[in-house]
Amino acid sequence: MENYSFFDNVNKFVGQAAGYLELPQGLLDQIKQCNSVYQMNFPVKLDNGNYEVIEAYRVQHSHHRLPVKGGIRYSMAVNEDEVKALAALMSYKCALVDVPFGGAKGGVRIDTRKYSESELEKITRRYTTELIRKNFISPAQDVPAPDYGTGAREMAWIADTYSSMNTGELNALACVTGKPISLHGIRGRTEATGRGVFYGIRTAVDVTEDMESLGLTPGLEGKRIIIQGLGNVGYYSAKYLQEGGAIITGIAEYNGGIYDPNGLDVEEVYQLKQEKGSILDYKNAKNIQNSIELLEYDCDILVPAALENQITAENAPGVKAKIIGEAANGPVTTEAANILQEKGLRILPDFYLNAGGVTVSYFEWLKNLSHVAFGRMDKRYEELTNRSMVAAMEEITGHQLSDTQRSSLVRGAGEIDIVNSGLEETMMNAYYTIWEIMKTKETGSLRIASFISAMEKIATAYVARGIFP
Ligand code: GLU
Repeated sequence: MENYSFFDNVNKFVGQAAGYLELPQGLLDQIKQCNSVYQMNFPVKLDNGNYEVIEAYRVQHSHHRLPVKGGIRYSMAVNEDEVKALAALMSYKCALVDVPFGGAKGGVRIDTRKYSESELEKITRRYTTELIRKNFISPAQDVPAPDYGTGAREMAWIADTYSSMNTGELNALACVTGKPISLHGIRGRTEATGRGVFYGIRTAVDVTEDMESLGLTPGLEGKRIIIQGLGNVGYYSAKYLQEGGAIITGIAEYNGGIYDPNGLDVEEVYQLKQEKGSILDYKNAKNIQNSIELLEYDCDILVPAALENQITAENAPGVKAKIIGEAANGPVTTEAANILQEKGLRILPDFYLNAGGVTVSYFEWLKNLSHVAFGRMDKRYEELTNRSMVAAMEEITGHQLSDTQRSSLVRGAGEIDIVNSGLEETMMNAYYTIWEIMKTKETGSLRIASFISAMEKIATAYVARGIFP
């Protein structure tokens, strides 16, 4: 795997999709390349008094729309190629789900387990300062978010550093999304990617003709699912899929996996992980020390929700699932995708399936710019209108509703209801769009259909700005 380039891998798919579009070569080259790549090295004083030089990146892939948007990853796998690929995927992801941003990604090459909280805070604040120095962060230009190894805590440090260095900037808190609610984050952002994965998979398995051709019954009920990764994305994906009627039969973590054909209780397994740092020895489940083997276990749906490059030409022939839901970015290599395609599998591509995170980030950014929470202005008004409607119906029909029936009918939408409904609408619409393109253009794959849809929108934005004819 030495010569593997994740960025080349993404561009191979882009090249395949370009075959279905009539784009001028110059425009295609512009779409493919990263507009700005910023690599930095900065020193941090550790708790023991020693200094360490940290390698970090921020890549802005496409400026066809501003700000650019994308998470910041803390991992030892971070390098320029990886960040470029992930930034590119963000451009296609945003375009696909009509989030009006360009794509970007940040990466800090550290193993978070090796640092104390105060060291992580120093690294995060210093990284943010480096971004500020080069205009690689601001509500109008580049808005980071959580990704692998980061979360609301890191976003709070970033927001605080940015706003204290930009006093007087009214919209300063819109410089980053995925913030804690107490710092003007939005309800539902933490769960958003996993919830989006659930909506995406549910929509896909509801298409009867597709399920018939895969030899599966329509609907999520009873589908056997194996998940790789029980981090933020994996945990919420598994939780909502289980609540939706699926059976989670296997969970693979980097330090060991578990399997039980009768189903695992996601919440219990997650608690075990929180307490012991490992999910091994859960009830009657079988331990799988080399957890990558779980990707080849029998199941209906396989959901890789960890890192890229997990299903390769080596293990793809052994995959038994009928559907692969790419919750992670880039978990299936091009070669593996071709093998799976030939086996007749259906792949729900990463930049569609995990778009829920950036979708709700967009809602958070809007909330920050408008300085008001969704539902604040109209919730009570909606309730009053509904109440009078129900009262009128009761009077006309002569029937009284029960208190429970009445309260569920009159309830006005609060922030979480609006966020989740906007997310569900986004994920379902995008699925129907790419499914339609797959059928009409006979792409044979949802991934190529997704690239076609995204590239068309990016091209239109460039042309509209008069950059290309
Ligand atoms: N890191 C997430 C992703 O890969 C979210 C990005 C964002 O919210 O800007 O899509």
